[in-house]
Amino acid sequence: MKAWSFSKSLGLSTQSWTRVILLTIAGTLCCIALAFVIDSYSFVEGRWRLGPSPKDDVIIPLLIAPPFFLYLLSKLRQLAIAHEQLMVIASTDGLTSCFNRAAFTTLVDAYLDRVDRQEKGGEGALLVMDVDHFKNVNDNFGHDMGDEALKLIAQSIKSTLREVDLVGRMGGEEFSVFLPGIAPDRVVMVAERIRETVKAVNFCPQGIPCNLSISIGGATYVRTASFSELYKLADKLLYDAKRQGRDRVELCQLGSGPPLAAAH
Ligand code: GH3
Ligand code: MG
Ligand code: MG
Repeated sequence: MKAWSFSKSLGLSTQSWTRVILLTIAGTLCCIALAFVIDSYSFVEGRWRLGPSPKDDVIIPLLIAPPFFLYLLSKLRQLAIAHEQLMVIASTDGLTSCFNRAAFTTLVDAYLDRVDRQEKGGEGALLVMDVDHFKNVNDNFGHDMGDEALKLIAQSIKSTLREVDLVGRMGGEEFSVFLPGIAPDRVVMVAERIRETVKAVNFCPQGIPCNLSISIGGATYVRTASFSELYKLADKLLYDAKRQGRDRVELCQLGSGPPLAAAH
């Protein structure tokens, strides 16, 4: 077992000083018990009897075990914290604080896989969204202002969602949202709310108002689906939304023919 997974299995993390102390006490008590057992068994006589130095069975482990366990467990705790921080850094997009593409894909894939194995199945949706004419923002106001716009867009997408929903930055000015456990007929409403919230963002680089908008393609599912199937369909619908004028939502249910909604 790797050291960090061992520390994780002990529950050692940022808030675990109490656990470090409790484990140190438990470890020390185990050492005392072990010293008693070893001291009380006569290998020559082959029987149990009171050891020759019962006081030492307590004093020696009390002197050695607490500093040893305290040092070892605090190092494991540090390792657990560093691991937690690395996991966050490795899975987060630095600019927008959304999940990065790899983390988003892995999480959605794992969720769908779990749902797939449950008898009842599930329902939900994957939305893929792309900022409209974003190149103009960079060209007119510079790359830094473009970055600011991306941050604002990510914040406003998140502000419309539930705790359980996932937001990922799939690259450039493209985001994706996974809505688990949502009925297909409610997805239109959620997607429209995202589109409208982004449209309402107050972005004024150098004091000049700049309108932002996104186009959204979405694939809903009932029962089972794979991430790649959903993404492929949602991406195709995103480009339909772009072709039909941008700042709009196109949705379709996976495995069914006609679109669920072609809004705005
Ligand atoms: P469309 O409506 O067809 O999507 O047009 P668009 O201009 O948004 O699309 P295009 O693919 O032509 O341009 C995307 C731009 O996004 C170009 C690229 O420089 C910019 N971009 C990608 N990633 C970043 C980033 O992290 N920061 C900034 N500021 N710009 C980025
Ligand atoms: Mg774009
Ligand atoms: Mg793009």
